[in-house]
Amino acid sequence: MSRVYNFGAGPAAIPTDILLQAKEELLDWDDLGMSVMEVSHRSPHYMKMMQQAEQDLRELMSIPDDYSVLFLAGPARAQFSAIPLNLLGDKTTADYIDTGIWSRMAIEEAQRYCKVNVAADAQEFNYFDIPERSTWQLNPDAAYVYYTDNETISGVEFPEAPVVGDVPLVADMTSSILSRPMDVTKFGLIFAGSQKNMGCAGLTVIIVRNDLLGKAMPTTPTVFDYKFQAEKQSLFYTPTTIACYMAGLMFQWLKQQGGLKAMEEINAIKAKKLYDFIDASSFYSNPVNPTVRSRMNIPFILADSEQDKAFLDGAHKAGMSALKGHRLVGGMRASIYNAMPMSGVDRLVEYMAEFERGV
Ligand SMILES: *Cc1c(COP(=O)(O)O)cnc(C)c1O
Repeated sequence: MSRVYNFGAGPAAIPTDILLQAKEELLDWDDLGMSVMEVSHRSPHYMKMMQQAEQDLRELMSIPDDYSVLFLAGPARAQFSAIPLNLLGDKTTADYIDTGIWSRMAIEEAQRYCKVNVAADAQEFNYFDIPERSTWQLNPDAAYVYYTDNETISGVEFPEAPVVGDVPLVADMTSSILSRPMDVTKFGLIFAGSQKNMGCAGLTVIIVRNDLLGKAMPTTPTVFDYKFQAEKQSLFYTPTTIACYMAGLMFQWLKQQGGLKAMEEINAIKAKKLYDFIDASSFYSNPVNPTVRSRMNIPFILADSEQDKAFLDGAHKAGMSALKGHRLVGGMRASIYNAMPMSGVDRLVEYMAEFERGV
């Protein structure tokens, strides 16, 4: 059996080296004669692993000391409620930038807790562009400004973090975290689910500036209370131990690859190869404004959608899987997170050219 090139958007590909290490350690982790999944999360072994994971993440992202890092169980989507429940404080309104399906879902959830001001709305561009910063209607009295760094479904990514003034900036980085260096000091809070660029599903990492802690509503569930979780070092409840372990391995792997600057360069080359090929072809197309195209998720459509099935079948035979686009937008989507090697992108481009010649 051989491994395929997995272009899935999430759960997504994991570097083979990491899977081999996990396999190796499955029966006997840290000389304990058992797997990490069977060890108490309060044991020194587990706590040491988590301290190392946090330290590696802090190093990779240059996270300053006045930020807490939380490793919480559950979906990224839980933060759509946890964010207003923690950050509103005595404010009643928050600004949201609507750039796609993920920000839209965050808005709908936040509306249960506060007045949402949609400061910019990309629906008029069918979510294929980001409204000019100068047109945003930010409210100086908002508790925070929320945006989605990379819209995984339509393939739209902010080239860099937006400048929003003194109001804390909150970012959903589920599909872009660790893909390039980010200046954490520009953010009040960053969160990301683990299943795209940090290993397997089950964990959400939250990086939050300490002055934003302690403003949770009295009704905020304890397990969602960032300050409480920071004080408990994310060990209040049983963590998703296997996901934390996998994320820790990812962080070590990234350091071996040369860190985020190196990843940024490789990821830029991977994305450019695909976009250049798509743009040069009259058979494939990508509708996103080139200045805001995602470096992680590249949707494309075939000139003749009747060919979709044949394209996917052929891709599968050529060793590539999960290229089918999101059900809401159709077509194809190639997700090329850190774990996708250059050879996977080369194989895809080669296959696309061959398929086009054949139709
Ligand atoms: C996948 C994704 C989510 C949702 O992740 P869950 O863990 O399934 O809740 C949220 N935001 C973005 C940008 C995503 O890509």
